[in-house]
Amino acid sequence: MSEFALSEIIVHADRRVLAAVVTHLCGDVAAVPDLRDRAQIEAKAAEVLPPFLDGSVQPSPPSDDVLQAAMNHAVGAVVPAAYRQMAREQAGIGPVEPQAPLDAPQGFHVLIIGSGVTGVLAARTLLELGLGNFTVVDRNPEPGGTWYVNRYPGCRVDTPSMLYSFSFDQDPDWPEHFSRQPELLRYVKAVADRSGLGERLRNSTEVVAMTWDETAQCWQVELRNVADGSTERVAAHAVIAAMGILRVPKFPDLAGRELFCGPALHTAQWDPSVSLEGKRVAVIGTGASANQVVPALAPIVDKLVVFQRSAHWMMSHPKYGKQLQGIEKALFQVPTYREWHRFSEGWKFGDGVTPLVQIDPNWPHLERSVNAASDRFRATLTAYLETQVGDRADLMEKCLPNFPPYGKRLIVDNGWYQALRRDNVRLETAPIVQVTETGVTTRAGHDDFDVLVYATGFQADKVLWPIQVTGRGGADVTARMEAEPEAYLGLAAADAPNLFITPGPNGTLGHGGNGILSAECHVRYIMESLRLLFERGARSMVVTDQALAEYNEDLLAKLPNFVQSLTTFDNWYRGDRDRVIAIAPKSLLEFWNDTRAPDPAAYEFA
Ligand SMILES: Cc1cc2nc3c(=O)[nH]c(=O)nc-3n(C[C@H](O)[C@H](O)[C@H](O)COP(=O)(O)OP(=O)(O)OC[C@H]3O[C@@H](n4cnc5c(N)ncnc54)[C@H](O)[C@@H]3O)c2cc1C
Repeated sequence: MSEFALSEIIVHADRRVLAAVVTHLCGDVAAVPDLRDRAQIEAKAAEVLPPFLDGSVQPSPPSDDVLQAAMNHAVGAVVPAAYRQMAREQAGIGPVEPQAPLDAPQGFHVLIIGSGVTGVLAARTLLELGLGNFTVVDRNPEPGGTWYVNRYPGCRVDTPSMLYSFSFDQDPDWPEHFSRQPELLRYVKAVADRSGLGERLRNSTEVVAMTWDETAQCWQVELRNVADGSTERVAAHAVIAAMGILRVPKFPDLAGRELFCGPALHTAQWDPSVSLEGKRVAVIGTGASANQVVPALAPIVDKLVVFQRSAHWMMSHPKYGKQLQGIEKALFQVPTYREWHRFSEGWKFGDGVTPLVQIDPNWPHLERSVNAASDRFRATLTAYLETQVGDRADLMEKCLPNFPPYGKRLIVDNGWYQALRRDNVRLETAPIVQVTETGVTTRAGHDDFDVLVYATGFQADKVLWPIQVTGRGGADVTARMEAEPEAYLGLAAADAPNLFITPGPNGTLGHGGNGILSAECHVRYIMESLRLLFERGARSMVVTDQALAEYNEDLLAKLPNFVQSLTTFDNWYRGDRDRVIAIAPKSLLEFWNDTRAPDPAAYEFA
C-alpha cells in the first residue's frame, strides 16, 4: 500500500485519530479502553490494520455505537449523538443515502450563476440527479470563482485542505496542509472537469438582469458576453445564484484615494505585471488577506508600511505552510484515517469552537471575551502573541486586539508577526488622514510610496448586485436586498420564485471556516426544493411572507447572542450595516439540519 512500514505509519499517526480508526475497523466500542494510552492504541493498531492495509478486508460503515465511540476518540471529548448522521456524510464515513434522481418536467431549464465552488457543486449535483438541462454562466474566463480571482502573493486557505474539499472528493493529492491559490483553482477546475459539465459551462458570460415572467412561470435572463459586450436573452425555470459573497472589493473611504500617481492594487484585483521588488509599498488593512500578502511581500520590497485600523486575533497551526508529503501523506491511505482526520479537523475548526462564539449574558468582560471559555482562549492567543513579539513592547501593544476572539474572522498566522519585526517593515497605527499623489499622510506624518496595496476585503452585503432582479408582481428584489438583506434559510427571497441565492444574506457560517460545508448544505436543500416542486406538479415555488417573517424574527433574536454581533468593533459580517448580514447565528449542525429538505408549508406553489 505504501513505501512505509506499518510500524512507521502507526508511530506517526495522530493518537486520537488512530484510536478512532482502530475502533471503527474493529467494530468494537471497547477497542480503545484508554485514549491516553498511546502504546496500547499503537499495539491494537498493529494487530488490526494489516488485513485492511493489504486490501484483503474492506472497512464497513460502523454501527451507531461504534461510530459514537470513534467520534469521541477522534476529538477527545463526548460528541453529542446528534452529530452522527452529519459525520457519516461530511467526514465520508458513510453510509449515506444518496439523493434520489430528480424527475423534471420536459424542458425544465436551470441557470446557475457562477462557477466557483458552489456553482460547480450545484451543476455536478444536478447532473448526478439526472437533470441535465442546465447552463452555468460565469463572467470569468474559467471556473474557480474566489480561487480564480484572488491571485495576490501568498493567497491560500486558512482552513486545512483536507477539510476545505468536497465531502465526495476529499484528497486530490493536496501538496500542502493549507493549499495555495493555484492548487485551489486547479481543484475546483478538476472537479468541474470530472463532473463532465462540458458545453453547459459558459465562461465570460455575465448575468445583467432577470425578470420573472408570470405567464411563462420562468425567469427571462439577460446575458452579456464579457468579451464583445453582445447580449442575449435566455429563459430559466429556476435560477441558482451562486455568485459568492466575497466578490465585490471594498475600498476604504480615504480622502484623495484617486490622487495617488503609482499603481494601487486591491488584493482581489491583483495585477501581476506590477513588480514590487525593491519598491516602497503601503499595505492598507490588516485582515485575512493582509496576513497573507504582507509576509509574502516583506522579503522582496525595499520598504513596507502596514496601515492598521485594528489588530486581529491570530492563532498558530503546526501544519500551516508545511508540505503534505511522505509519511503524513501515507497516513491518508490507511483505510478510514482520512475520514477520521477530517472529522477531527472539522470539529476543531467547526462546532468544537461554537461555545467560543456564544455570549454568556452574565459575562462581565465583553470588551475582551464573551464567556469563560472565550476568556481562556483569549489567554492562549495572547500567550502566542507574546511568543512572537513579547520582547517588542511597541508591537505587543499594537498587535493586541481590543475585542473578543472570533469577533472578526480568526486568522491562522502566516508569519505576520515575524514580518512586522523586519527592519524594512513598519506597523503604522496612526489614522490615515489622506492619500496624496506620492503616498499616505497619517496624523503622525507622511510616507512616500511607489505602490499602494488595498487589503481591505469585500462588501459582503452586495447580495444580488449588480444584477437587476425583478420578481413577482414587478418587485425590485435587488433594491430590497440592498435596503434590507434577508432570505429564508439564507437562500430564498420574497417575491423571487424558483430563485435560490447561495449563499444569500446570513447564508453561511462565521466560525467553522469551511465554505464548502455550507455550500453542500445549500445545494442539497435546493435539489430537494426542486424535487418538491416537481412532485407537486407545480411550476413555481416562492417563500411565503409568513415563513420569511418568522425566520427573520428568529434570526434577529439569535444574532445578538453571537460575538460577531457586538458593536464595539467592526467586522465584515456586519460591514456598514447595523446588524450582521453575512453569517447565520447557528452551529454547523443546526445549519446542516435546517437544510436537509424544505418545509412545504414555508412555500407557496403555483
Ligand atoms: C482570499 C480568500 C480566502 C478565503 N479563504 C477561505 C478559507 O480558508 N476557508 C473557507 O471556507 N473559505 C474561504 N474563503 C471564502 C471563499 O470565497 C469560499 O470558501 C468559496 O470559495 C466561495 O465559493 P462560491 O462559489 O460560493 O463563490 P465564488 O468563489 O465567489 O464564486 C462566485 C462566482 O460567481 C461569478 N459571478 C458573480 N456574479 C456574476 C454575474 N452577474 N454573472 C456571471 N457570473 C457571476 C463570479 O465571477 C465567481 O466566479 C476565502 C475567500 C477569499 C476571498
